[in-house]
Amino acid sequence: MLVLKNFIDGRFVPSENGKVLQIENPATATFYGTCPDSDQHDVEKAVSAAKRAQPEWSSLGAQKRSDILQRVATLLEERLDEFARAESQDQGKPLTLARELDIPRSVSNFRFFASRLQHLEDKVFKSSEQVFHYVERSPVGVIGLITPWNLPLYLLTWKIAPALAFGNTVVCKPSELTPLTAYLLCEVLSAAGVPHGVVNMLFGRGPAVGQAIVEHHDIRAVSFTGGTQTGQQIARTAAPLFKKLSLELGGKNPNIIFADANFENALSTSLRSSFLNQGEICLCGSRIYIESSIYPKFLEAFSQRVKEQLHVGDPLGPKTKLGALVSKAHLEKVDHYVKRAIADGGRLLAGGKKPQLAAPFCDGHFYEPTILINVPHHSCAVQEEIFGPVVTVTPFDNEEEVIQLANEPQYGLAASLWTENLSRAHRMAKRLETGIVWVNGWMLRDLRVPFGGVKASGVGREGGDWSYDFYTETKDICIAIQR
Ligand code: NDP
Repeated sequence: MLVLKNFIDGRFVPSENGKVLQIENPATATFYGTCPDSDQHDVEKAVSAAKRAQPEWSSLGAQKRSDILQRVATLLEERLDEFARAESQDQGKPLTLARELDIPRSVSNFRFFASRLQHLEDKVFKSSEQVFHYVERSPVGVIGLITPWNLPLYLLTWKIAPALAFGNTVVCKPSELTPLTAYLLCEVLSAAGVPHGVVNMLFGRGPAVGQAIVEHHDIRAVSFTGGTQTGQQIARTAAPLFKKLSLELGGKNPNIIFADANFENALSTSLRSSFLNQGEICLCGSRIYIESSIYPKFLEAFSQRVKEQLHVGDPLGPKTKLGALVSKAHLEKVDHYVKRAIADGGRLLAGGKKPQLAAPFCDGHFYEPTILINVPHHSCAVQEEIFGPVVTVTPFDNEEEVIQLANEPQYGLAASLWTENLSRAHRMAKRLETGIVWVNGWMLRDLRVPFGGVKASGVGREGGDWSYDFYTETKDICIAIQR
């Protein structure tokens, strides 16, 4: 059994209370280790360490911090295979996906912000010949980083890398369902020469550790990725304390396909955008809207490909496209939504159940890729985030109708739009109430662009200059020249 520990002030230590939580491999439903079940006493120690380390870390200067972050990237890349296996074992995702997406993108997060740090430009405003202003940027201080279980290392490093680059120190709380790669990352940070106390990693449950991080008076900013309800709880706690907040929350993203789109590209990308990572990506296009004239053609081709190409099973298998869902509770939630959709009048075109798998996967939390049609738009299966391998497919007749349908749910993270008509693409992209619109594509990421959602999908943006804004304080310094 693997025994994970917290990482505080450069040392691996058990939680103060000595309690632990079991860690499960969701593909086999067996426990393979434990992590600390930390509480506010561990938060206290971690924040003190981060506070002590912050002045020295920020005064190291951009070049030295950048060098250290580049070393983190290199060491992580050298252990790519080990990290990919750990992520797959912990989360249930196919090993091939962890190898091609999760871990390489985590490496890129460090590389990108290490380099960004060296290309910052200061702003100067000349009011007159005698008066000018310059904008001073300083680190915020100690930052709380709270992350979910779906892309564990990728989302954690998306926050650690910019926070450190701009001179802050951090206290992190990954999901207790997927702690393994966060733990391994601490070894990498140590080996790369990140000074003690700069990164502190606490394992445990959200209401205990996460809440104590958000409440702590020395935590000046919180960057959170997770569910909308948890985001509300964090905002309620942080707002009266005037903390900076970045909230990246849930999504129920529309994937809109017009008859004039390149059919093959739209079809093959929809297969990915619906079911990649078992549909456990906040950006997944879980509501597909098809222009009526190609609806029958799309349904036939889409369901055929799902049945023929999306092999569900052993996450380590080279042909596996969908691994296990993260937990039994999550599997039950997904299945509940499918049953509700059917009770509301929906019809299953594919999936809708657990596959029969041989040992050792027979008790694993697998779910077949599921296509639902005829689901009324008011159904919770259309309006709420399922966060699993489930899509609804709905026909539409014109732009106006599909804009109304697309904007209806409370969420507003991302949208995909498939059309060869450039004017329509511009027109519709502007009217979609989301933080991101992909025209003729999906999940085309660039770390320089703003990332985040509107409505219940979040507050604030991260990425490039937007991360610089979030992870620094801005001060106007005005100089009047004496004559
Ligand atoms: P949760 O909101 O349940 O948890 C996210 C993190 O918050 C976990 O580490 C959790 O700990 C912690 N947490 C829970 N309660 C509190 C609290 N009161 N105070 C502080 N922290 C707390 O989300 P999931 O882990 O279930 O992740 C899935 C969600 O994440 C989906 O809604 C998905 O859309 C969203 N997401 C959004 C993304 C985006 O960029 N917009 C990207 C990826 C996912 P614990 O695990 O112990 O409960």
